[in-house]
Amino acid sequence: MKLARILGIAIALLPFFDGYSFGRPAAKGSGTRPTEIFQGDIVELKIPGIGLTTLEGRMGKAMIPFFSSGSGHYTAFVGADLEAKPGLATVMVKGTTTTGIQRDSQMTLLIKPKSFKKESFSVGAEFDQLSPEVLERIRKDQDEFSRVFRTSAPDRLWEGPFLLPISSEVSSPFGYRRIINGAPRAPHTGVDLRAALGSEVVAANHGRVVLLGDFFFSGHSLVLDHGAGLYTMYFHLSEFKVEMGDAVRKGDVIGLSGMTGRVTGPHLHWGARINGARIDPFELVNKLGNSQRRLDNDATVNGAKR
Ligand SMILES: [Zn+2]
Repeated sequence: MKLARILGIAIALLPFFDGYSFGRPAAKGSGTRPTEIFQGDIVELKIPGIGLTTLEGRMGKAMIPFFSSGSGHYTAFVGADLEAKPGLATVMVKGTTTTGIQRDSQMTLLIKPKSFKKESFSVGAEFDQLSPEVLERIRKDQDEFSRVFRTSAPDRLWEGPFLLPISSEVSSPFGYRRIINGAPRAPHTGVDLRAALGSEVVAANHGRVVLLGDFFFSGHSLVLDHGAGLYTMYFHLSEFKVEMGDAVRKGDVIGLSGMTGRVTGPHLHWGARINGARIDPFELVNKLGNSQRRLDNDATVNGAKR
């Protein structure tokens, strides 16, 4: 896990727009090693792009937005979904020069499997034996989330490092394969942070409230759009302190923790999504912006498990 984190932090400096690699596929055996990324992690791609007016990236169907990071460089953060198929993935990049010339290139990521642990717990029958009416409600819930995830603000709203939404420890880590009432279920798509009922939950970064409502599994739930395809989610709340459509600043209180939805006790479920990939939200704290608030997720997890 330690090694995974070190590799995941590696910044990929790609030879780009520099004449020799541009417009040429990163052929196997050309000496360009793919950038490694583990399931549920993010990686920073950095490209020198002097003289470009636009730069767009795409990985499969997902947009990969690049931002100017000063001194003629562009940066993108790419996430690998926690269930992404291990293997090679290609980021296609299109640039336009100041003289209007289109330039294409591509870079290769190597998605590596991560070994997630298993955890077992029990929930009440009302969350386990689902009637057709409940299944219909769950489908509507999923549609509502999907709609939100298709309509991110085009500009980046976040800045600097992300904050933990609540200062506490992890009670259930990201990615755990779950056995619920004895049967294997969907993996854990966020982290659970310990929270007494009614604890203040803050916005991890600047953004806009794009979903606020009551859902079957996640209870009172709130989603923030941080722009350019990056979202954070806050589930099982007891109360909302913002309204749909509100612009929030990093650190603003957005709600109070609770135990609504499918829970075994009060806690905050914190989730994150980037370019359509469900990622460990600690990746945002550890890798985006500067590392003033760097936290060692693995240490926290191990501490909580002991
Ligand atoms: Zn959770």
